[in-house]
Amino acid sequence: METATYATSVLHQDAVERKPFYHYRPGTIAVSLAAPGCSFRCDYCVNFRISQFGRDGAAVWTAKEVDPWAVVERARKLNGCVALSYTEPSLAIELTHDLARVGRAVGVEVIWKTNGFLTPAAVESAAQALAAVNIDVKTVNRRAHRRLTGGDVRPVLDAIEGFRDRDVWVEVSTPMIPGLFDAREIAEAIAEIDPAIPWHLLRYTPAYRMNQLAPTAPQEIADAVAVGRAVGLKYVYVERALGAEGRSTCCPRCRGLLIERGVWSTRENRLDSGRCPYCGCEIEGRW
Ligand code: SF4
Repeated sequence: METATYATSVLHQDAVERKPFYHYRPGTIAVSLAAPGCSFRCDYCVNFRISQFGRDGAAVWTAKEVDPWAVVERARKLNGCVALSYTEPSLAIELTHDLARVGRAVGVEVIWKTNGFLTPAAVESAAQALAAVNIDVKTVNRRAHRRLTGGDVRPVLDAIEGFRDRDVWVEVSTPMIPGLFDAREIAEAIAEIDPAIPWHLLRYTPAYRMNQLAPTAPQEIADAVAVGRAVGLKYVYVERALGAEGRSTCCPRCRGLLIERGVWSTRENRLDSGRCPYCGCEIEGRW
């Protein structure tokens, strides 16, 4: 099978929890790539040196050439997957398709962390290659979203639905941007699509052009978790600010502790064939 070589700014391996994915093969490794560039220009972007390549003089070309065969082989040896992350993977869709073609032959899946600003045709195309996506929903206020990113939020919400309808596993991340973050609005938008979509709350920390504001306070994060649950979301997560509790998966029916996580990895997974071992409730995900 012929494939091209591709430019990537990143080539390393990580726990899949770091992408973040909490309901997709917990405890496994993702070999991560990032083609330079992004369709958005978020003021808070922590990856601006590679995401804003070609748009901001402070961004740098750090790309190296990779061969999809070598990347997939590295993931296969780790019993892991290949993740496109840090920048916007839809800008290098050929890379995703080549990785998926090669990966399919040896049981290696491809996953995305994406801003979700995709046409329906792009979702259709990418869904054929992907096992899972984590999509950023920064705000559901259309004007605020356009001001922050340069693009409309409607395609992002449609992409969540589009991937989910095509049986691609979907998780959502929300950076808690001061003055913009509204837990209820966003949680309701996700719950309307599917309350079983895991929601990751990402603490704001000063970065790039939004570097003067204070990091999100722990109490605000705890309040947002409570709002997400009250709205009906089954799985709401916080990577670090609330300790191990924020990272744990609990059964939505009996509240039994199912998966315990360290900061970057899974510590213990008590799921029994995708079910709660205490009450038998089915836990949504790709286990
Ligand atoms: S979508 Fe993500 S990678 Fe792109 S500019 Fe925004 S924060 Fe950065």
